[in-house]
Amino acid sequence: MKSPNKKPKTIKTISILISILIVLMACLFVLVFVFINNMKRLVVRIIDSIPVVSSFIPETSDYSKQTETPSETEKTTTPTTEKTTSSFSEKTTARPVETSSPGFFIDTSRRYTHSSLNDDINKLASLYPDLISVSTVGKSVNNRAIKLIKLGKGEKKAFACAAIHAREIITSKYIMLCVFEYCEAYKSKTGKYGQYNVKELLEEYTIFIVPCANPDGMEIVGNKKVPNASISSFSRYEYKANTNGVDLNRNFPLAWERINNGITKPASYDYKGKSSASEPETKCLMSLCKNNSFEFAFSFHITGECVYWGDVYDTTNNNGFRRLAKRLSDLTGFYLTNESNDVNSYGGGFENWFRHTYKKPGFCIELISYEHRTSPTTNNDYIHFHNTVKWSSTRYILLEAMS
Ligand SMILES: [Zn+2]
Repeated sequence: MKSPNKKPKTIKTISILISILIVLMACLFVLVFVFINNMKRLVVRIIDSIPVVSSFIPETSDYSKQTETPSETEKTTTPTTEKTTSSFSEKTTARPVETSSPGFFIDTSRRYTHSSLNDDINKLASLYPDLISVSTVGKSVNNRAIKLIKLGKGEKKAFACAAIHAREIITSKYIMLCVFEYCEAYKSKTGKYGQYNVKELLEEYTIFIVPCANPDGMEIVGNKKVPNASISSFSRYEYKANTNGVDLNRNFPLAWERINNGITKPASYDYKGKSSASEPETKCLMSLCKNNSFEFAFSFHITGECVYWGDVYDTTNNNGFRRLAKRLSDLTGFYLTNESNDVNSYGGGFENWFRHTYKKPGFCIELISYEHRTSPTTNNDYIHFHNTVKWSSTRYILLEAMS
């Protein structure tokens, strides 16, 4: 005989089991969702931070054709003994911001081309439309756009440019990574980057950034092509000039007439040009500085790990400039140089021209060490990018200057 209560009891048991199953399924779904999300972040981080083998053709054999490493003629001031040890970098080695832009990162394992740089500039502008605006401020000799990123919302203005020297493409990567991480920090809950409050700084300042001041040079070095038939000794390992064979960092109207370095025709580097400010790229930076009242200016270069901040051309403001330079030296551990007293070193230089024209601090930062002097041509410097540019401390340079 069947129990009259059996059917309802069975239904009740089944109902309870189904409820438990639904709860378990929901928990499983949440767990899988969280897991996938974390995995996506992890993959992005691994790609960003762990060395990746570049798809560029290995160029070691190409480099070995050079009979001797070219001497560094970029700046000739002897570094002083004021080399500092950076305690700052030890305190802030952890990656400070969680990326809020999954799917986008600055690929530090590859050098930029004019095209890939512009792609990243446009992507940044679309990711942070309220924080970044992009414009073209001029054209190179070969009609390539010289891009300007305005980063921040502040009334005060500051300026930074990279890759005025062709072979120093890695400085474009450096400045772009700064822009990206400052934006991410600005959007984060704390608004901080290391010990710096980026949110406050970018409310106070707008940084005008030219990620590549010599776009033709970037292509010349990348494509291994002689730009000018009259340059017989072309070597992309040491090529710094624009497409006319003029070293833009010798072309600014500061003691230009007195430069006498023996280079009298277009060359890989150090040719000052037929007249001061003869090149469109030079005029472009001059016009930017004339039309905006910058509090300070930076030009990023590659060789020597040092901070250039003053010369003997006009020492009126040098004490003030040196104080800020000392802070940057303390931050990075880079050499604080002496005042430059060689006109062939300071003559025609961008930052030299800037500080003497506008009586404001102008710095040349040599971002990487002599051992990485082959920056434009070896992929190792990109594979180990963060170490190459001493990212743990150099990423704060612009923020320190604004503080
Ligand atoms: Zn340089």
